[in-house]
Amino acid sequence: MTLGKTIDGKAFAAKLRGRIGEGVTDFVAKAGRKPGLAVVLVGEDPASSVYVRSKGKATVEVGMESYEFKRPATISQEELIELVEELNGDPRVDGILVQLPLPKHLDDAAVIATINPAKDVDGFHVVNAGKLAVGDPSALVPCTPLGCLMLLKDELGDLSGKEAVVIGRSNIVGKPMAALLLGESCTVTIAHSRTQDLASVVHRADIVVAAVGRPEMIKGSWIKPGATVIDVGINRVPAEEEGKSKIVGDVATAEAISHVAGITPVPGGVGPMTIAVLLRNTLVAASAREGLTAPAGL
Ligand code: NDP
Repeated sequence: MTLGKTIDGKAFAAKLRGRIGEGVTDFVAKAGRKPGLAVVLVGEDPASSVYVRSKGKATVEVGMESYEFKRPATISQEELIELVEELNGDPRVDGILVQLPLPKHLDDAAVIATINPAKDVDGFHVVNAGKLAVGDPSALVPCTPLGCLMLLKDELGDLSGKEAVVIGRSNIVGKPMAALLLGESCTVTIAHSRTQDLASVVHRADIVVAAVGRPEMIKGSWIKPGATVIDVGINRVPAEEEGKSKIVGDVATAEAISHVAGITPVPGGVGPMTIAVLLRNTLVAASAREGLTAPAGL
C-alpha cells in the first residue's frame, strides 16, 4: 500500500459534474425542458452569498436552470413559508434549497418541513431523513455525506466490514454519514462532544470521517496507519502572514499524511463534492418527477 495519498475531491467532483451534464442533455431530450434548481437566500451573510453564487454558476454550467430568490433578513416566517409553497407548486422547479443558517427570528425546521420532500435536494426533510434511516433508495440524501461516501467508494471499493468512525452527529453531516456507512455494511461508531477517550475511538477506525468544526482537532497520532480519512471541517484561522486568514480542516493533516492510506485536503476535498452532489440530487429529483429513470453511475 502506498501511504500518504491526497484524495482529490476537486478532480472527482469535476468528473461527476461531467457525467451530470451528460445526464442533463439526456433529460432535456426526453422531458423537453431543463431541470430547475431554486435557491432561496435570506439576508446578506457574505459566506452564504458566496455559496449561493457558486451553486448558481455550477447549476448553469451543467445545463440546468438556476432560479435565485433573494429576500431581506426582515422577511417574516409566513412570507418565507409562502415562497417555499410557491416553489413547491412551480412546475419549472425540481429542487428547492433554502440556504442555512437563516436569521435568528426564522425557524429553520419549520421552513424545511414546508419543502415538498420530492424537491428537497438538500435531503434535510424528515421524510428523506426517515427514508435514509430505513434504507429506502428513493431518499434524497444530504449532499456533503453522499459526496464523502462517493469519495470513499472510489478509494476503497467495497466498504463492507470496515470499521468506520464518524466524529460529529449533526443532522446535516454526522448522522446521515453514519447511516450511509451502515448501509454499506461498515461497523459504525458516531463520536461527539461527550465521547470519552476520542483518541482511542478514532484509532480503531479504517475509515475516519471528521465533521466537528474545530481546527485540526483530530491529531495524526490518533489515526491508525493505513486508515482513510475524510475531513469535512471548514475552519477559518489566522494565517502565518499578519492580518490574513486561511481555511483548515478538522484533522491535523501534516501529522497524519505520512501514515494514512488517503486523506482529503481542505480546501479541495469534500467542499467541491457538496455542490456536485447538489446538482446530482436535482437531476435525480427531476427524473423522478418526470417518471424517468435517473442516469446510472451517479
Ligand atoms: P455542527 O456544529 O452542527 O456539529 C458538530 C459536531 O461535532 C457535533 O455533533 C458536536 O458534538 C461535535 N463536536 C464538537 N466538539 C467536539 C469535540 N471536542 N469532540 C468530539 N466531537 C465534537 O457542525 P456540522 O456538522 O454542520 O459541520 C461540521 C463541520 O463540517 C464544520 O466545520 C462545517 O463548516 C463543515 N461542513 C463542511 C461542508 C462542506 O461542504 N465541506 C458542509 C457542511 C459542513 P455534540 O453534538 O455533542 O455537540
